[in-house]
Amino acid sequence: MIKMMRAARMHAVGGPMTIDNIPVPKPGSTDVLVQVKACGMVPNLGNVLANWTKWFPHLPLPKLPAIFGLDPAGVVVEVGEQIVDVRPGERVYVNPLRSCGACQMCRAGERSRCRYFTFNGYFGFGPGSQKIYDIYPYGGFCEYMTAPQYALVRLPDNVTFEQAARFGYTGTSYGAMKKANATPGQCMLVDGISGTLGLGAALLGVAMGITRIFGTGRNQGLLDRVKALAPDRIEVHALGSGSTSEWVKSRTGGEGVDFMISALGPGAPASTMVDALRAVRRGGRAVNVGAVAEVLPLDVHWLMDEQIQVIGSNWFTAAQGQEMAELARSGLLDMSVFEHRRFPLEDVNNAISGLSDRNGGFSNYVVVP
Ligand SMILES: [Zn+2]
Repeated sequence: MIKMMRAARMHAVGGPMTIDNIPVPKPGSTDVLVQVKACGMVPNLGNVLANWTKWFPHLPLPKLPAIFGLDPAGVVVEVGEQIVDVRPGERVYVNPLRSCGACQMCRAGERSRCRYFTFNGYFGFGPGSQKIYDIYPYGGFCEYMTAPQYALVRLPDNVTFEQAARFGYTGTSYGAMKKANATPGQCMLVDGISGTLGLGAALLGVAMGITRIFGTGRNQGLLDRVKALAPDRIEVHALGSGSTSEWVKSRTGGEGVDFMISALGPGAPASTMVDALRAVRRGGRAVNVGAVAEVLPLDVHWLMDEQIQVIGSNWFTAAQGQEMAELARSGLLDMSVFEHRRFPLEDVNNAISGLSDRNGGFSNYVVVP
C-alpha cells in the first residue's frame, strides 16, 4: 500500500493551494478509502473562497491547512473493519454531505437537517462542523480520501468519473424536484435553466417524465442548446424579454406550472424570482436552490389564497444520489451532454481561478488527481 500522497492544500484563506506530500489516511472502522479519479468543482471557486469569510461569516470553513474538493468520484481501495457490503474495486461517487449520524434527523435519513450538517471539502453549516472536519479532513483535491460508507453512491459502468463529479449539482436539482413532489406528466418551470443547477433540472425533468419543461436564461445560444435536448418538451424564454409568469401562463391556458425550480445565479434580482413564482399554479410548489441573495417581497396572502408552498432545498441524500445513478444506468438520465474541462492536481490554482469561456451548465470543471 502506498504510504504518501499528493494533496492540494490551502494554507491561508484566499491564498493559492500548494501541492503537499502527506500520509495516505487509514479509513475508520465504518469508513472506506477512495482513490479519487475526478473531483468536480464550482467554477470560480478561488474567488468564492477568497471572499468566504466576508460573504458567509455564519458558514465556517475548515481549519487550515485544508483540502477542498466537494464532488469526488473514484474507486474504493480499502474498507474499514466493520464494513460488510462495500468492496475494494467498487466505483463510487462520494456524497460530501456529512452529519452526526445519531440525532433524530440523521436517524430518519434527513442528514441535511442535522445541526452538524457539513460539506466535506467545502464548508459547514454551523459551529459543530469543525468536529466533522476533524474526522473527515480530506476533500477531493487529493489522491486518497476517507469517506463514511453512508456517503457512497455506487456508479454504473456507463457513468464516467468525470460525469459522476457532476452528481453534486445535478443531485441538488434532484433533491429540489423531490421536495416539489415531481411526478410524471407534470409541468415545471426552471428559472435559470442553462446554468449548472438548471441544466441538471432539465436533464432530470426529461428523465423523470416531466412532460412540459419551461426554462428561462439570459443567453439565447445556451437556451437553444437546452431546448435541443428535448425539443418537443422543452420551451425556453430569454430573461429580459417580458414577464416569465405571463409567458408560462400563456403557454398553459392560464393554468401555470405544477412546480417551479429557482436556479438563478448570484446577482439575479429578487424581482426575477417573484415573477417566476407567479407562474406556479394553485396548489403548486416553488423550490429554491439558486443564489438569489436579495430579500424577496413576498405576498403571503397570495400564497395562502393559492395554497402555494415556497420551499428551500439544500443538497440531496446519498439514497437520492443512487436513484440518479440508476436513472443514468438506464439511459433515462443523459450525462453525456457535459463538456469536461480536466485539470491535473498540479493545475488546481488555474482550475479554481475562474475561466471565462464557459458554456453555462454544459461546462464541467474537474480536477483529476
Ligand atoms: Zn445528526
